[in-house]
Amino acid sequence: MNERGKAARYETEDDSAPLDTHVARAILDGYHDKVSRALQSDVVIVGAGPSGLVAAWRLAHAGRHVVLLDKRLSPGGGIWGGSLGMNEVVVEQDAFSILAEAGVRQHCRGDLFVADAAELACALCLKALHAGVVFLNLITAEDVCVHDGRVNGVAVNRSILGERLPIDPLVLRSRAVIDATGHEAVLADRLHRRGLIDSPEGRLAGEGPMDAAAGEQFVVANVMELFPGLWVSGMSVCAVMGGPRMGPIFGGMLLSGEKAGEMIDRSLAESDQI
Ligand SMILES: Cc1cc2nc3c(=O)[nH]c(=O)nc-3n(C[C@H](O)[C@H](O)[C@H](O)COP(=O)(O)OP(=O)(O)OC[C@H]3O[C@@H](n4cnc5c(N)ncnc54)[C@H](O)[C@@H]3O)c2cc1C
Repeated sequence: MNERGKAARYETEDDSAPLDTHVARAILDGYHDKVSRALQSDVVIVGAGPSGLVAAWRLAHAGRHVVLLDKRLSPGGGIWGGSLGMNEVVVEQDAFSILAEAGVRQHCRGDLFVADAAELACALCLKALHAGVVFLNLITAEDVCVHDGRVNGVAVNRSILGERLPIDPLVLRSRAVIDATGHEAVLADRLHRRGLIDSPEGRLAGEGPMDAAAGEQFVVANVMELFPGLWVSGMSVCAVMGGPRMGPIFGGMLLSGEKAGEMIDRSLAESDQI
């Protein structure tokens, strides 16, 4: 907080104020600080599912200033539901190192690892937050900002409120944006509707039929910069490019987020050198 902000805060500090007033001020100051830090960053990640969380963690760990948004109350996306609401998650060997690094307890079942869904969601959140990620919940990304042919931020609104009332969004600027919104691929869809991304079908491809093994490979292999400044990771990759659905297996999502983080960190490092 700058000197002016500090002065304004101390002027309103009143020891005799009721507890509720102190509570409200603490929340307002803390949230104001968070939103201020979110206004300009290296990377805005939209969607705090498994791929968005891992990308956020990896990028922040690499020293990038990262903002992570989710339209829902809690981060974790599809992790919580497991399959049919049974809160167990299954991960392949390739992604075991991510579970281990996050400190998620698991047991081995043949070539697979099984963990508690809540533990995975909580561990990834904690890793991201402790690495320095600024997380904002109940914030919906409505649109991308494009300048000189490059995505350089997102327009966000308060979830639910923005859908129901004519309220203008706020803009969060960044050097790169990840669409990790899962099946909806919201940001890719916005660009597509304006004809900024080509598609022979005139719409995003949409995910293909279920094929777990093929889907798991596809979602990692096809992480990419879809449009200058806009990257896709996780289920958005399949939604954009027609990759197979894979059902309740999470290794591909974790590895997809990790790959997006590594690619963006490299791309930012290259542009720093220019
Ligand atoms: C409803 C549902 C259906 C599923 N169906 C399939 C399936 O058909 N096939 C399959 O293989 N797997 C499916 N899964 C399983 C699995 O959960 C997903 O594959 C996996 O969670 C995707 O991970 P992700 O990181 O790509 O995105 P998700 O886990 O989906 O997370 C995306 C996050 O983005 C947030 N978000 C979305 N739009 C916005 C926005 N505009 N602004 C801010 N935040 C936003 C969401 O709230 C969510 O938290 C499904 C999961 C869910 C929850």
